[in-house]
Amino acid sequence: EAKNQGRGKYRMFERSMDESLKTRQQIGADLRHALQTKRDLHVFYQPLMDISGQKVVALEALIRWQHPVHGRISPTELIPVAEDIGLITQLGEWVLREACRVARLWPDLSIAVNVSPLQFRSPGFVERIKAIVNKEQISPTHIELEITEGVLIEDEKTAKGIIDELREAGFRIALDDFGTGYSSLNYLSNFAVDKIKIDRSFTQSLGVTSNSSAIIESVVKLGHAMGLTVTAEGVETHGQMTALARAGCNQLQGYLFSEAVPKEQLDQLINQRHAS
Ligand code: C2E
Ligand code: MG
Ligand code: MG
Ligand code: MG
Repeated sequence: EAKNQGRGKYRMFERSMDESLKTRQQIGADLRHALQTKRDLHVFYQPLMDISGQKVVALEALIRWQHPVHGRISPTELIPVAEDIGLITQLGEWVLREACRVARLWPDLSIAVNVSPLQFRSPGFVERIKAIVNKEQISPTHIELEITEGVLIEDEKTAKGIIDELREAGFRIALDDFGTGYSSLNYLSNFAVDKIKIDRSFTQSLGVTSNSSAIIESVVKLGHAMGLTVTAEGVETHGQMTALARAGCNQLQGYLFSEAVPKEQLDQLINQRHAS
């Protein structure tokens, strides 16, 4: 009897796997279509503030997909689908191209673009992104490429070569979601980067977990000792902002200042911040 129950469960499990596979395939087909038409795909921009929280110093480009049936689909869902169907490089390059057009409007701001590990490892990656910024007439020094530890995992030597090449071309490199990986310190010692973005889980444990401010202070010190800019992600409260300022962080990003907005709203957002 137990066996029958087990088998019944197994069949149910199988069926739901099947269904989620179908949904995933459908989503993949929809994403392919969206990338062709670009109609439901948008790039939004979230400001990075200086430590006073008053001045916008950079913008992070974040993909948004308004699915015609399922509504807004989170990047954390759509990025893996794009990777599965082999379109992540195309998507990443489109976001970069869009970001360059915004960079042209805001020459004083850095524009940050996320790079998926698969895109990072795709053949000709460095040449292709150099060609894009070149064609858009943007200096690579205005572009910050955000990578996660995932790009560094498989072949450290190749990854190091790519990062060095990018930095030689003038791009700046930020380690995104810093502290959440397996060996953050190891990576810091092996790869030359320009910025650390402390993951929002650390920011949000400030005042909640007893050692969180000690950890953040240490990461800031470490980053500064290496000549890096340190940004904190996920700042939602004034209390967090104060603690991060005390810890010596350089930049802040989070809903306390603004969520990601369409490019049409940047003018208002940036001028309003500068005025206040
Ligand atoms: P990320 O690069 O770490 O981006 C920060 C994420 O945190 C964004 O989520 C942003 O909306 C969110 N966020 C910002 N401030 C706050 C806050 O105060 N509180 C909370 N709870 N969240 C905050 P989003 O836009 O949903 O993107 C999620 C992830 O998807 C990104 O994390 C990035 O890894 C990936 N992603 C987004 N756009 C792209 C893209 O164009 N290319 C690639 N490869 N990945 C992307
Ligand atoms: Mg990022
Ligand atoms: Mg991040
Ligand atoms: Mg994150």
